[in-house]
Parts: sequence; C-alpha cells; structure tokens
Amino acid sequence: MRFRPLFRLGFSCASRMSGDRTTSSAVRPSNVATQYQEQLFDSAAKGNVEHVLAMLKAAVDVDAKNDRGWTALMFAARNGQVSVIKSLLEQGCSMNVLNSSGQTALDIADFWNHSDASSALSDGAVVPTQECQNYYSLNPLNRASDRRKHPEWIHQAVRRDNTKFILFSDLNPFLIEDTNQKSKKSKYVLGLFSYNQLAEHISKKPLLIFLGLETWDPESAVWFAVDVTGVEESKLKDVHKDGFFANPFPLTMQMDDRHAGIFAEARSILTWHDRYSFCATCGSSTVVQEAGYKRVCSNADCRSHKGINNTCYPRVDPSLIMLVVSPDGNRCLLGRKKTFPPKMFSCLAGFMEPGESIEDTCRREVEEESGIQVGRVEYHSSQPWPFPAVLMLGCITHAKTETIKLDNDDELEAAQWFSRPEIVQMLTHQHPGGLFVPPRQAIAHQLIRTWVGKTSNL
Ligand SMILES: [Zn+2]
Repeated sequence: MRFRPLFRLGFSCASRMSGDRTTSSAVRPSNVATQYQEQLFDSAAKGNVEHVLAMLKAAVDVDAKNDRGWTALMFAARNGQVSVIKSLLEQGCSMNVLNSSGQTALDIADFWNHSDASSALSDGAVVPTQECQNYYSLNPLNRASDRRKHPEWIHQAVRRDNTKFILFSDLNPFLIEDTNQKSKKSKYVLGLFSYNQLAEHISKKPLLIFLGLETWDPESAVWFAVDVTGVEESKLKDVHKDGFFANPFPLTMQMDDRHAGIFAEARSILTWHDRYSFCATCGSSTVVQEAGYKRVCSNADCRSHKGINNTCYPRVDPSLIMLVVSPDGNRCLLGRKKTFPPKMFSCLAGFMEPGESIEDTCRREVEEESGIQVGRVEYHSSQPWPFPAVLMLGCITHAKTETIKLDNDDELEAAQWFSRPEIVQMLTHQHPGGLFVPPRQAIAHQLIRTWVGKTSNL
C-alpha cells in the first residue's frame, strides 16, 4: 500500500480542523510511523473510515496521541465524524483518554455541539445531550409523585408481574456483578427481584418505597425499594447466587450510572426513615404514608398537622463545593482533608447554613477554610450524595486574594494553588509527586475538568 508523502497530503488538515495550534510546519514528522500517525489523525478528522482502518492495519496504535494529547477519536469527535467514531470504537480505542487539557473525546464532541458524535461516544447513556452528567444524578425513573397518594394503585403496582424491587439490608444495597459492561465503566448493578420472589416478605409489611415508573406510561414497570433487614441472605442468593449486600461507600461508586441514580434516591429515603421514627414536634410515633415519602405524627393534637411543616418529608441537606480560581485565572485552589486518601487534593466544600444564599455559603466556607476571599460565584451543576442525603451544589468562584491561611482547628490539613499544567497531571495520574484529584464520579472532578477545559486546545 502506498501513501503520499505527508507534506503533500496536507497533514495539517487535522490540526486545522481541530484548532490545534501546535501541529504546524514547526513540527515535522521525523519517521514513517509518525507520518502514518498524522495520516490517521487527518483521516479521522475528514471522516475517511477506509483510510483510518488502513492506518490502523499499518500498526498505528489506535490510541496514539499527538504532542497535545489528541487521539484519532478526538479528531473525529471535533469534526463530528460519527462513522469514524464507531469504527475506532469497534477497533477497541479508549473513550477515556484525556488530552493535555484534560478533555475526553466526548467533552470535545459536546463542546462543538456534535450531538450525534456525543451520542456515539456516550455509548447509550440515558440522556446524551444532558448538560452535565454527574454520578448519582442519572436516575432514569419517572418519580410519578402523584401516584404516591393513591394507596390502592400502589397496592396493585406492588403485585404486577413486571414490577422490580431493589433490596436493602441495614441500608446496604443488594448488588450483583455487571455482566453487560458495554462501557467497561461499571462493576456492579442493583440486583432486581420480582413480587413472586418476595411475596412472603412483603406480606409482613416491610418498609416499601415507591421509586417511580420506568417511563411516562403508567403501565410501564414500577420500581420499589424494600427493606429486607433480617431476611436470610441465602434465600436471596437463590435468585442471584453471587449477589451481596454491599458497603455503600465506596462500592456504589463503581455502579452502572443509571442504577447509581436509583440507588441514590432509595438510600436517601431509607436513611431518613431509619433516623426519623418519631415526630420532631411532639415526640409521638409516626406513620409512613405516601408510599414512603411522608411520615405523619400519630398524635391527632400535634401542631405538625397544621400549617406548613418541614418535619414530615424526607430531608435534603444542601452543601456547597467550589473550585476557587486565582485572581489571574491561571491557578486553582485545592485542599486536603485529613480523612482523604494520601496525596489526594480536592475542592473546598461545606454545608449551607439556614438563611444563607449559595453565594454566602461559598464565600464564608472558602474564607473559613483557607483565608482566601472570593467575589463572583458561578453555579456549575449539582449532585445528589446519598450519604445520607446531601445535595452537592457545585460552583466555580473567583478569588480576590491569594494568601492562604489555614485554620489550625479546621479539618483541612493543607491547601495550595495549582497551575493548570499541574492539574492536568493530577487528572491524568501523571503528577511527578503522585498527587491526584477525585475520580470522575465526584462532582469535584467535574468542576476541575470544567476549569481546565475553559482555556483549552479545543
Ligand atoms: Zn407530633
């Protein structure tokens, strides 16, 4: 097979189409392998599937990178070349490679609004065009909250043939191995049970939470969470022989994204029931209503029956997590809690207090923890964190000062400014000192990646 000399082929086409500034005449391929690699990038950018496959046959590594960390998949993503993306995925390329700016091919496709390319790269994700896909937030169920007030409907839904039950024992979910690992990202899924498999237990009226419908069709499959604390695990293993009750953290961080979202809903509610058995107003016992979404005081004279109360419904605790950007915009502030794994740095975070706005909490927490004063606060995205029922509100904030001053009594043992190149090393586990940031499942990771991507080689 013959290939035209690279400089005649116009190998800089890929770089031009990607906006990559470095692959110019200043970077001359020095050998045949490099020429083939550049031709691979060029073909990927232009959508030439046949040529892409020829280059791979010519022994070019499917995940080969240029000097800015771009792979063929990224060039295809940048230019919306869906056929090339599919071919490269079939050839076993990795979707998780990061370029030197910390972006994956999916980030690049999203940035350039190539929705078909994003779809192909999302590998069947629930909502490919969703703005931000934070782990624990991808619950696909329709909560159908109006159904909760119809106990007869709930009674019948429990007994449908296609109803699905997920199990918890002492708040630990019953998981099984994910044998359908298309994306190779998840290790576990929720073990699903039918009514017939649980009929004996359900007849004893355990705590049962209506989680939602699979679609907007009222006849679609209904999901419930059921507390099976006390039930012998061996009975459940008759259904899923390798299933087990998992320690929720960190094992549920390795779940299928959609199941992680369903788990987050279920465990947050179950934890609330576990901790709030009595009326917060008068101390009487409470009765579960609304398919697990309400607890009502059994004392008819209790004040909680009148007016607006926040004692009867499951609680959610807002918490702020923020990436602080330096006044010159070139560095970001990360900290280390004593409880973190060694060498891990993350965003600062803290609980919102009553009467505070998001901006108030951000400014107070950052100053308390690091001594840095921040001004502008930009909301990024949120993430349910079901330990026990936190809602992480992610923000990017802009510092007005730079001098770090740690509070000796605080749980933060270190905080420092990091440059963008150093952050990329931490994101890609290539930091010379072994420092790293939390994994993709944490919203901190998404905040850091967003900042890195803002002045990128996209
Ligand atoms: Zn009461």
